[in-house]
Amino acid sequence: MGREGGVALIIATILGTVGASAGTVGAGGGAVGNAAAGSPDIPPAEGPGPGAPAPESNADGVNGPAEVAGGSVPRPRDTPYPGTISLRVDVTDLERHVLNVHEVIPAAPGPLTLLYPEWLPGNHAPRGPIDGLGGLIINANGKRVEWTRDPVNIYAFQVQVPAGVNHLDVEFQYAAPLTAAEGRINVTPEIVGLQWNTVVLYPAGYYASRISVAPELVLPEGWEFGSALDVESRRSSNVTFKHVSLYTLVDSPVFAGRYFRSIVLDPVPAGTGVKAAPKSGISLGTSTGEPAVRLDIVADTPASFDIKPEQLAAHRKLVQETYAVFGARHFDHYDMLLALSDHFGDIGLEHHRSSENRRLPGYFVDWDKEGPGRSILPHEFTHSWNGKFRMPAGLATPDFNTPMQNQLLWVYEGLTQYLEGVLAARSGLWSADFARQDWAYTAANMDHNRPGRAWRDVEDTTYQPIVTARRPLSWLSWERTEDYYPEGALIWLDVDTKIRELSGDKKSLDDFARGFFGGVDGTLGPVTYTLTDIARALNSVTAFDWEKFLTQRLHSHGPGAPLDGLTRGGWKLVYSDMPTDYLRQLEDQRKAADFIFSLGFNVSNRDYGQITEVLWGGPGYDAGLTAGTVIIAVNGREYRPERLREALLIAHSAHTPIELIVKNLDRYRTVRIPYFDGAKYPRLERVERSTDRLSEITKPRT
Ligand SMILES: [Zn+2]
Repeated sequence: MGREGGVALIIATILGTVGASAGTVGAGGGAVGNAAAGSPDIPPAEGPGPGAPAPESNADGVNGPAEVAGGSVPRPRDTPYPGTISLRVDVTDLERHVLNVHEVIPAAPGPLTLLYPEWLPGNHAPRGPIDGLGGLIINANGKRVEWTRDPVNIYAFQVQVPAGVNHLDVEFQYAAPLTAAEGRINVTPEIVGLQWNTVVLYPAGYYASRISVAPELVLPEGWEFGSALDVESRRSSNVTFKHVSLYTLVDSPVFAGRYFRSIVLDPVPAGTGVKAAPKSGISLGTSTGEPAVRLDIVADTPASFDIKPEQLAAHRKLVQETYAVFGARHFDHYDMLLALSDHFGDIGLEHHRSSENRRLPGYFVDWDKEGPGRSILPHEFTHSWNGKFRMPAGLATPDFNTPMQNQLLWVYEGLTQYLEGVLAARSGLWSADFARQDWAYTAANMDHNRPGRAWRDVEDTTYQPIVTARRPLSWLSWERTEDYYPEGALIWLDVDTKIRELSGDKKSLDDFARGFFGGVDGTLGPVTYTLTDIARALNSVTAFDWEKFLTQRLHSHGPGAPLDGLTRGGWKLVYSDMPTDYLRQLEDQRKAADFIFSLGFNVSNRDYGQITEVLWGGPGYDAGLTAGTVIIAVNGREYRPERLREALLIAHSAHTPIELIVKNLDRYRTVRIPYFDGAKYPRLERVERSTDRLSEITKPRT
């Protein structure tokens, strides 16, 4: 996923729980074949080479208990489900946000368990929106078959398939959120984002990669769409897709819209496209001149499609710069799905051959104001390699109802967050200076705003998606949130600069990325890994005790964040009284004024004067302020952000406390904050006469 507000991470000693070498789970794209090899003999640092053995199921390597929750639910097996499920989804009810589903599921007489997906890839958590499922009615040969819900596993529905029946007709609706309070809005009058996991029930007892599905989509009239799915046929608004595995289907969402534009970012000349190694992976065939990478945009209005040539050039360069880092691509084609909307809910979600992204309508037309958000496409594109082709062993589950293990998300997300900045800068989506401003903010946020590292190391934060689904936290800085993103990024900057230092600046993290995530074009994977595999691959780039290096950082309680990467990069973190462009734009994006590095709190501009976050142990905390407290007045005058900024100056020069009138529930009180250090905002400053590695890191390679 894309990053949230702030982040950190840790690592636990989980090595060996899922096997210490590269292996695969049998979860490759069904229509395009099964997963790559799973032999412990394959050096993980090189990926699955052409000599790798044929796919072998990996039943012992999967996660979870012998039975999934609910004793009567069969455990997934690596064997094909007989027949193909027909799945027809009608997304034309734009007023009521109701998606109508009709499935025809081949079935033999006897007991059958149907599962609604619970554990969602990319979410790393049991977030399947089962509260939206309604109207479930099952028929066999025209006669109603009653279902009962499993008493332990509420995502499982038990049915008895009657004698003489070879398929079930399953109908239900998915009631997509009508308001943001219910969940992320994915249906608007102009845009529908269809995630297939919300509209499918599937038979328990099989790997998702071994269940074949024939998807069909009914669109509103005149609409177009983008998706990684291949179209079999189309009759006006009815689209039939080629058969895929359930695994690939759930990994291939659709963005459909009234206003749609598809832009080729990487055209592949006919006959020169992706070729697969015959034994190691999936034969994707040779390109027929179809584009390899597309940017598919849906928008509230066509005004968002006003794209300048230099903006387009940066997006095209992003593809080439990403290839330069990884050296190979593990897809036949890739669709960046981008919604530019005020109404469509925020998302940044990775898939193997596509990604779901949402930005504001001004992504192109207000280019200079949307800086921080321009790293979303580099982030999600990177995940095709880091997260989808190569996947932490604990995340490679056989179906969507087996629990995941998140311990290596500091690689999956931390490295991705690091590379998103690198790639944004190399492609020209960001300037090098803007990337440094992003790193300054990340470093300061983890260094200054995370007293919680005293009790919780960064590895433990990888469980945060399961602990809470990004709901607001009362004391984020103490409880810690998904800190494995930003603190993971700092650790990977540390690794990158360490490789450069150790190798006399002849090698870099790019060499690791090419070795670990590269390999042969067209190998789909997923190829799993452990921390030991990571350390071994780093060691093959530069000899060093990487396991110790990483483990120390993952289990550190501070004080402070791992900032060695900045210093080794030739820069240091400093605070000044002027915010960077990056921070100014971040304030606009969050609709909040940032005082966290000075007074220790942020104030909403949307709910005027309402405090959104208070730093544990900071000046605001000492004054008894909390999230939800509303600032009514500053030094006797009505609250405005600029008046609080001015009060910081006065307190600094006159050495008098800032006086606030605040309101909590129906209680008013006056608080005094004895803080005299003035405004503080993080930025990076060059360390004279040191090697400027950060500038090397952000230099384009193509
Ligand atoms: Zn991500």
